[in-house]
Parts: sequence; C-alpha cells; structure tokens
Amino acid sequence: MSAPATPHAANRLDLEAIRREFPILARRVHGDRALVYLDSAASSQKPRAVIDALSHYYGHTHSNVHRGVHLLSTEATDAYEQAREKIAAFIGAASARECVFVRGTTEAINLVSQAWARPRLGPGDEVLVTAMEHHSNLVPWQMVCEQTGARLVAAPIDERGDLIVDAWRERLSSRTRLVALTHVSNALGTLNPVAELTALAHEAGARVLIDGAQGVPHLPVDVAALGCDFYAFSGHKMYGPTGIGVLWGREDVLAETGPWEGGGSMIRSVTLEKTIFADPPQRFEAGTPHIAGAVGLGAAVDWLDALEMEALEAHEAGLVDYALERLASVPEIRLIGTPRQRVGVISFVTGDIHPHDMGTFLDREGVAVRVGHHCAQPVMQHFGIPATTRASFAVHNGTDDVDALVAGIRAVVEFFA
Ligand code: PMP
Repeated sequence: MSAPATPHAANRLDLEAIRREFPILARRVHGDRALVYLDSAASSQKPRAVIDALSHYYGHTHSNVHRGVHLLSTEATDAYEQAREKIAAFIGAASARECVFVRGTTEAINLVSQAWARPRLGPGDEVLVTAMEHHSNLVPWQMVCEQTGARLVAAPIDERGDLIVDAWRERLSSRTRLVALTHVSNALGTLNPVAELTALAHEAGARVLIDGAQGVPHLPVDVAALGCDFYAFSGHKMYGPTGIGVLWGREDVLAETGPWEGGGSMIRSVTLEKTIFADPPQRFEAGTPHIAGAVGLGAAVDWLDALEMEALEAHEAGLVDYALERLASVPEIRLIGTPRQRVGVISFVTGDIHPHDMGTFLDREGVAVRVGHHCAQPVMQHFGIPATTRASFAVHNGTDDVDALVAGIRAVVEFFA
C-alpha cells in the first residue's frame, strides 16, 4: 500500500479535491510527465476561484475606481474596497483602513523605508535586521541608512539557521528606531518568534516591521496578536495574482507616515501651490491601482478562509515532517537550515552536485524546485555555499510529490556518482 497523500492526523483537507481546483496541475511537462510543483515559495499556483474572479472582474465590472459616478465605476470601487475588507479580516486588522494595496512585499518595505523611516532617521539611529533576511528586507534598509546617516545593524544566525536571540537582544538599544524581521525565512524555513521579539523591540522604543511574505501563505496570521507596527506580504505567494500585495500598518502608525508617491487619488485637495493629502490608506495609493489584482486577492482570501488556515497549516506541517524523514534517507543530502521551528521550505545541497544541475535534472522528471541563492545571499555566505536546492510546499502538495522529489534526487546522485 502506498503512503497516504498526507500523513498528518489533524488533516481535514481533501487533497484530491484541492488539486482539481488548480488547473495548472493538470498540465503535463517535458513530454508526458505529471507536474510536481515544489516552488510555491517563489510563487504559488492559482486555484480556479482566483482565475475566475479576475476574468469575471474584467468581463463584467471593470472601470476605474474612486472617480466615476457611473455604475461600473461604483461597482469596481465596491469590489476593490470589499477586497480590502476581506484581507483586513483575514489578518486580524482592526479596520480595512490599515491595509494599503501595494505591488507586493518589496514595495511595502520600500514604502515604509522611504515614507516612515527616511524622515525619522539620522546619524546615531539604528535599524536592526537579521542575517536571514530576503534582499527585500535588507537592501531598502541599507539604502535608507545611506541616505540618512543611520546605521544598519544585523543580528547573526546560528549553524541551524535560527536567529541567535541573545545576540539580537544585545543589538537592540535606545538607538534602534526600527526592527525589520522576517516572519519565516524563504531560504531556510526558519519560523521566528516574532511576537516575543516585537514585545522586546517595543520595550526598547523601536517600531517593528515584519516581512510576512512567507508567513501569510502558511500560517494563520493575526497582526493584532503579533503586536507589530507594519506587516508586509505578497498576493502571488498566497494563491492570489501577481502585482498585488499589502502593507498592513497600525492605524496610528500609518497616520504618522507621510506620503510615498505623489499623484492622483492620494490627495484631499490640490492647488498650484500646495496639496493636502488624503488619509491612509488612500494617501499611499497614488494613481490607478491594480484593481483586478485586489479583487483576485480577495478571492484568494475567500478560498483560504473556506479551507481554513489551521487545516492548511496542519497539512503542510505533516508534509514537511514527512519530507524531512524521506530526505534523511539519502546520505548525500546536507540540509541547509535545520531550524527548531520550520515552515514551508526545505533547502539542501548534495555533495559536489551543483544545485543548478540538480534543478535542471529534477525539472526533466517534472519536479519543479528552485535553485540559487533565493535572494538571501547573506544566508548563503553564512553557510559558505553559493546556492541551494529548495523545495517549498503548498496546500496542493502531498507525500506523492515528496516521493517524486526524493526519487529524482536519488537518480541525480547516482548519475553523478
Ligand atoms: N521576503 C521574503 C521572505 C520572500 O520570500 C520574498 C519573495 N521571495 C520577498 C520578501 C519579496 O516578495 P515580492 O517579490 O513578492 O515582493
């Protein structure tokens, strides 16, 4: 008897039914191979509900938002704002006004670095990051420190890929104006104790931004319970469209944040001499937004709500455990990152086999994984390697996908032996 599609006792998901909701999973690749998609950390696939919501929006509702008095414009505005309400409820925001639509995590972090941090930082101030950040949560801070004379301080990680919390605490001081921290590392899978670290940062008087790009797709997230000031995430990693994401900011923190880009829709009134800016979130949404993207993200949230994030989390946790067990049966594999708490991602290297060879070979077997530095070069430097192979999991993955991965890895190892 083959292993059940998911081994986790708490699983309440009907995996085969879920798979049928993803049209792309019916695709055959490289001749007639089934697609084993293990690259959802880079971008997740889309369920039919999201694809249909986009198509329905463009086919029935589309017009520009916030401007017209005609029917389509009011319907489009309602659809856009309803999506904001759904997303706010999904992440435990106090109100939809706390959710700013952006292109994705990268834009959200750049918004905070330029609109919130830049006017506040100066020589003597510090921004505290960690050595496991994605470049999106590192480069914008390097840039704003360069622009303001503030100092960027990075807390180290240990040989498992966990944050060294004591070292992080030592670097936190009254000079720290902002702490930027990933919820889950996209390169290692490390789940950070973000609520605890946020409380410590607040005691020190710092604001806290959490990079939630790899958090929201895998865990129930409640921003109020986390206690942070900003939380950034991308729609395309949580079954929604590309080009849309959210910056959540607590109402009082967004209120103290000045404008980011200037233009239409972000103003209350304009004269040739002066502009009075709109309140958040409109203040941060200059120009025509990605209306269809927001609507599609709202549909993704409905879809996830119907599945229940707790069930998704349990399913993926079981799968990660199963994958770790199966990968341990291949002696040539060295895991990169063995964090105490892991979510969604497993990175590894295999002897001298270059990850690009591994990825290319696996692809020929129909197994899509990511290879490279995963936009986290400091993590690679920490482990003294240029790249890893990364398998990442989503709700449609089952043990059969893990088995295909392990069989593929074994074949590559034998080929290079
Ligand atoms: N942070 C993390 C942890 C990520 O995994 C990613 C995407 N790989 C990003 C930020 C950037 O997200 P996006 O490209 O959607 O802006």
